[in-house]
Amino acid sequence: MMHPKKIKSILFLSTVFLLTNAAVIHGQNNDKGTPNFVIIFADDLGYGDLGTYGNPTIKTPNLDRMAYEGQKWTNFYVAASVCTPSRAALLTGRLTVRSGMSSNKTRVLFPNSKNGLPAYEITLAEQLKKVGYSTACIGKWHLGHKEQYLPTNNGFDYYFGIPYSNDMDKISGKEYKEAAKIGHSAIHTEDYNVPLIRNTKIIERPANQNTITKRYAEEAISFIKENKDKPFFVYLAHNLPHIPLFASKEFLGKSKRGLYGDVLEEIDHGVGKIMDVLKAEGLAENTIVVFTSDNGPWLPFKTHGGSAGLLKAGKGTTWEGGMREPGIFWGPGLIKPGLVSDIGSTMDLFTTFSSLAEAELPKDRIIDGKDLSQTLLNRKPSPRNSILYYRGTDLYAARLGDFKAHFITQGAYGEFGEREVHNPPLLFNVSQDASEKFNIAANHPEILEQINELVKDHKSNLIKGKDQLAERE
Ligand code: MG
Repeated sequence: MMHPKKIKSILFLSTVFLLTNAAVIHGQNNDKGTPNFVIIFADDLGYGDLGTYGNPTIKTPNLDRMAYEGQKWTNFYVAASVCTPSRAALLTGRLTVRSGMSSNKTRVLFPNSKNGLPAYEITLAEQLKKVGYSTACIGKWHLGHKEQYLPTNNGFDYYFGIPYSNDMDKISGKEYKEAAKIGHSAIHTEDYNVPLIRNTKIIERPANQNTITKRYAEEAISFIKENKDKPFFVYLAHNLPHIPLFASKEFLGKSKRGLYGDVLEEIDHGVGKIMDVLKAEGLAENTIVVFTSDNGPWLPFKTHGGSAGLLKAGKGTTWEGGMREPGIFWGPGLIKPGLVSDIGSTMDLFTTFSSLAEAELPKDRIIDGKDLSQTLLNRKPSPRNSILYYRGTDLYAARLGDFKAHFITQGAYGEFGEREVHNPPLLFNVSQDASEKFNIAANHPEILEQINELVKDHKSNLIKGKDQLAERE
């Protein structure tokens, strides 16, 4: 008969073996088994710019595969149609009318802006740090360029990227439109004095933007490899395809769509590399990768701008083309694959990832993000049924279910008309009429009534934050 001590030790060893094996099988890299998160955020990429969203000439095989193996959302929104507020809302899970990260005086932060994301705001990185995640911000920040506002002071262990848009700090005097007309040869990376920062130090100025997309992907991959033994969060915010466009040699002139296509194909290539490394390191089954963009395409730049596909207008507007974006969720062990036409928002990433990481939500403030985890993991209906479309600190439109009411419409960058107040509001069924062509307000006073209730509810407890964007030095 075997000695009881020996039995115990065999049992112990088998348990250790099983647990270790289970960890390998499920790619778990921490005791709790909470997933890793990678958000890949493009800049000014439109709803119609990816192969899987119907683009006929831009080749995005890796993003298409992500969508095929994961979930492709067709009603996924950002909270603002320009960079700074869109980013602030994603990272804080809150409408920027609350945080003061939107303004009616200016739309985004500039290199001479005085302020940035207020210290009071809690970022997704800060949430995840509380529960032991390693966190990296790679790419464009645009939430304040001074040291106290940089990612390393907002919950990120590591930062590598540019602090604001790639067209700021322009030194050549060339006009964008002129440059876009002429083509890539008229634009040089030296025409912009944009700094490249590692943590808090400038390491390159001007940033070499020709190679920046490739370098961002490489930085993300190194961080994943270095942090594979604990849970991690990588926020990879490409500064392209925001104009001016740049691509590295291997991609220049390759796409049938022209330079814009070259840029996207390079971003897509990096996405593939990240998926490969997650698989190679045994992490894919316990990691969720999201791909989306901060706002719609910058249309006046013609072929240098992207496409919103069938959606109306683009960047800067509260039409669908300004705020509805591709939303792809990939995670072979976690995400239940399929096409999702329920409504989601980038603000929901804050709440969903906090929930999956078991990080308690702050209780001292209103969080606008919803928990999509049951939709992602089990294809349950999305808990989100509405979208509020803000421009600056004014509510221009609201969507409830299939219907969207515009209280105010306004174009941007000289296109799609002047500011116009609508009373009664314009009403579109954006499920049947995604292009917002057919105003049905006259036939549906009851729906306008419901949307008015939604807005009244929202405004009843709204406290507008102090404007953080307007002050300059
Ligand atoms: Mg943008």
